[in-house]
Amino acid sequence: MFFIAGTGNQSKKLGKINAQHCPSCQSFQGMELIKTYGYVHLFFVPTVKFDVKYLLVCPQCGKVYQLQKEAGRALEKGRLPALAAERLAPAPGYQVQDTRFCPRCGSEVSPADQYCRHCGQPL
Ligand SMILES: [Zn+2]
Ligand SMILES: [Zn+2]
Repeated sequence: MFFIAGTGNQSKKLGKINAQHCPSCQSFQGMELIKTYGYVHLFFVPTVKFDVKYLLVCPQCGKVYQLQKEAGRALEKGRLPALAAERLAPAPGYQVQDTRFCPRCGSEVSPADQYCRHCGQPL
């Protein structure tokens, strides 16, 4: 019996929060909600998720905000229409301008990818 285990990082686009106001550029266009997490995989199947973070990205100015986990979860589940500007903390370490997401499954794909590595959708 043997195990193949490792860790990785993944991020997933959860959808647009239409009511979210960007405190940086004052845009009312809505912001993208993104969830990132590290995972431990066993036999290449992600099993344990850890270090879950929620981010909001403004498509107008490209600014990234990190959310408290429970606030992000409330947005994900649709329990909150939007967050107050003071609950958004700037997350300068994140570069999402170079990141693309698969239109079919919402998984993160690299700008060079021609096909989604998760579902095979041509990009
Ligand atoms: Zn903005
Ligand atoms: Zn996909």
